[in-house]
Amino acid sequence: MKVGVLALQGDVPEHLGVLRRVVRSAIPVRTPADLAEVGALFLPGGESTAIARLIEEAGLWGPLQARIRNGLPVLATCAGLILLARELAPSAFGRDPPTFGVLDVRVRRNDYGAQRESFEAPVVVDGLRGPPFPGVFIRSPRILEVGPGATPVARRGEEVVGVRAGPVWGLAFHPELSSDLRVHRHFLETVGAVG
Ligand code: GLN
Repeated sequence: MKVGVLALQGDVPEHLGVLRRVVRSAIPVRTPADLAEVGALFLPGGESTAIARLIEEAGLWGPLQARIRNGLPVLATCAGLILLARELAPSAFGRDPPTFGVLDVRVRRNDYGAQRESFEAPVVVDGLRGPPFPGVFIRSPRILEVGPGATPVARRGEEVVGVRAGPVWGLAFHPELSSDLRVHRHFLETVGAVG
């Protein structure tokens, strides 16, 4: 099965770099035809307003929504999590993007602060063996509320920083920006895309 990374804006090379160490075939997804080829998709971090606009311009909004509703496994990081959220609490950082609304969470963009307030913190991810995962947070969204349709999968202390709803996962941090492959591998194993 091919694994894709939505490649319109953001940290696409970083996701592809990790994935090429984990699976045989990882491709950038820019068009509906690319999307039709993949059996799992990664939504990268970046700027959610820009990514939303580019998804629309690429004619990908409808096809993506349909694939996700039909069970496409998705791992979304940071801006990707924002795009999947059921609800965005208004942020202090300008206009919020439209969302797919498939993850039952309420999040607020940039709620940990600006770029210069980026940080790394240990994150406990359910199902990962070994030490806590090095979570990189860059202008990350905060998960303010987890609804009954989503299950927490990652925590920083008491705070939930990752959730899943079936094969759709959303993480507030950036596993693609650490050299630790465990989150990508674990997600793909869980959804049956490798192993
Ligand atoms: N703050 C960004 C947004 O709102 C997300 C940041 C990131 O993906 N690193 O889209």
